Amino acid sequence: MRGAGGPRVDLPVLPVVRLGTLRVTAGSEPTLFALPQHAESALSVVAERRRGTKFVELPCQSIINTPESTGMEFWSVNPYVGCEFGCSYCYARFAHTYVVDRARTRGRLHVPLGREPFEQRIFVKRRSSVLRALDIDLRKFRRRKIRDGTQTLLIGSGTDPYQPAERLYQITRTILDRLRAERGIRIGIITKSPLICRDLDLLKEVGRRNLVSVYISLISADISVIKQFEARSPMPHARLRALQKLTGNGIRAGLLVAPVLPGITDTVPQIELLMTEARAAGAHFAHPVPLRMYADTRARVFPILAKVYPHFVARYKENYYHDQNVSDIYHEALRARFREIGQRFGIHDTGSERDYTKPPTVPSPQLTLWQS
Ligand code: SF4
Repeated sequence: MRGAGGPRVDLPVLPVVRLGTLRVTAGSEPTLFALPQHAESALSVVAERRRGTKFVELPCQSIINTPESTGMEFWSVNPYVGCEFGCSYCYARFAHTYVVDRARTRGRLHVPLGREPFEQRIFVKRRSSVLRALDIDLRKFRRRKIRDGTQTLLIGSGTDPYQPAERLYQITRTILDRLRAERGIRIGIITKSPLICRDLDLLKEVGRRNLVSVYISLISADISVIKQFEARSPMPHARLRALQKLTGNGIRAGLLVAPVLPGITDTVPQIELLMTEARAAGAHFAHPVPLRMYADTRARVFPILAKVYPHFVARYKENYYHDQNVSDIYHEALRARFREIGQRFGIHDTGSERDYTKPPTVPSPQLTLWQS
């Protein structure tokens, strides 16, 4: 199979496609993808859905990000760039813009200038290069582990590793399969998709010699909130069923409540509803992360607020005017609220250990200013 004018590609197109209809774009899109004849390294569109999503193969030399390269405390892997779930609050759009701009600048991707839809052009890391890069990067990872002790590897820190593309390309599965040979690693996986249950056996196997934790990402158990802010992602009941299946099979799993939307999903009834469902699904933890507002996020979240929560618009502007993060006071109060409700519902792990070393010292006016 060949992309438009590009080299032969090695991504398999699997026969079973459950989400949408897929058609191969061999030679199509002469305008958007008129790649130069000599461009051996041109990126290929390997498949396209009828509704317009394109999958573009992306070779990679490195697959595991070091903590230094991301500024985060863990190592991370993201098999895909872009995500069909397209949540309004997603902060991973900048990475997609970066990949598109870099490919365009190097003459590897011929698309008109302008913003690339994050949810409609999904970059899929090429399987053969992923395996090569994993071998190299895991050697670095192991050296650091020997020097500094246990390290954490997070799969899906940027985009969902079980987004619909994974059903086709199985890059996350390929990575997990490779991790079976490792030992003594803390491995975290963040996803909104019940597709993770496909890899249950693999998760168990990797978990025999490593500490595997699955973070099912869910901002609310209230369907109306999900439809407002992330209409294309799996509905709460599907995610909670997946959570139950994971915990029922002995996997350490819980909720990543990210982002918590001030005034909307941080209220006591909202958190109690979430904890009720989390408890029923056997959640081991529920970790809240407040909303961050980047330029891309603002452009998508504010129209929803204006339409559905107009009474909060001024408040959001005020809170996020000077900073993309919430204030420390709000953050502390949110953690305290999760902790208190979590205790009542028997979910005692509601924050990282680091969070608990610093108990809230300031009473939070913001919790009363917003809503109870
Ligand atoms: S599922 Fe995650 S990565 Fe995908 S759009 Fe939503 S927030 Fe972004």
